[in-house]
Amino acid sequence: MKKIAVLTSGGDAPGMNAAIRAVVRKAHYHKIDVVGVYYGYEGLYNGNFELLDLGSVGGIIQRGGTMLYSARFPEFKETEMQNKAIENLRKEGIDGLVVIGGDGSYRGAMALTEKGFPCVGIPGTIDNDIPGTEYTIGFDTALNTAVEAIDKIRDTATSHENTFIVEVMGRNAGDIALWTGLAAGAETVLIPEEEFEIEDIVARLERSAARGKRHSIIIVAEGVMPGHKLGKILEERTGVQIRVSVLGHMQRGGAPSARDRVLAGRLGARAVELLLEGQAGRAVGIQNHAVVDYDLKEAYENEHKADVSLYTLSKELSI
Ligand code: ADP
Repeated sequence: MKKIAVLTSGGDAPGMNAAIRAVVRKAHYHKIDVVGVYYGYEGLYNGNFELLDLGSVGGIIQRGGTMLYSARFPEFKETEMQNKAIENLRKEGIDGLVVIGGDGSYRGAMALTEKGFPCVGIPGTIDNDIPGTEYTIGFDTALNTAVEAIDKIRDTATSHENTFIVEVMGRNAGDIALWTGLAAGAETVLIPEEEFEIEDIVARLERSAARGKRHSIIIVAEGVMPGHKLGKILEERTGVQIRVSVLGHMQRGGAPSARDRVLAGRLGARAVELLLEGQAGRAVGIQNHAVVDYDLKEAYENEHKADVSLYTLSKELSI
């Protein structure tokens, strides 16, 4: 193997740049050239390539987003698109591809691998929703951003004796909500993985009020329902005004945390090693502090499971 390519795909996540840097530097360490593909699979189809030398990834380890840009390109499910992508890669003398993205991106990587073009996946998403890895690149940063925001909201909630609903991201996963809830000491956390009754939330609010506490923070994962909808339901039920804050895309941006940078470095380097070992269709991840690799299919055929013991814990700690 003399030349490999790297792309970022799907939703961007802080730490993707650190992963690109790790791929480029590790490959150069082994005297392998790296081509950057712009705009994910769309760029693969259009041949939007650029050779990345050592300097091209200088000064990006601390930057959020992705220097290679990302794109959603649903057409990549079509086999003709995939064939054209492989043709473009081969024309450039590229014989391996590192895909940084979520489970949708992994499907594209597996499709290419099954057509004979070796790919390896690196988990890059703030949602932490990829089976087979305990953490994804970007999750820790998103978490810290959300906690910082909620700390500020709590200052206002405390001063004005308000109940706040804070909607956090996570798509269908409750990880951001769970971890944020524990870290920010939220009174209630709602995640898609656990059913809840509106009456339970009302009872919690009433219990808090009865012991003199007049402010409360409820964190709702976007996969449960929109924060404003929950606010309406609770207002109608309690007659008390409820403020709603939707954190939105701020959770996807910003400088990656130290933990995400280190994770990106470790996973990026391992992805290159796998390609050099002649392995294909593998995903890298982290389990019990160790870097692991597994079949890409395991990442999208299995269901992600949030650690619901944290849900129980957050209830116990917020009585
Ligand atoms: P994520 O990778 O973050 O889960 P998406 O689900 O949007 O994000 O997937 C990113 C891109 O991966 C899609 O826009 C598409 O180009 C490609 N992709 C998704 N699913 C498939 C599939 N079944 N086959 C081939 N490519 C796919």
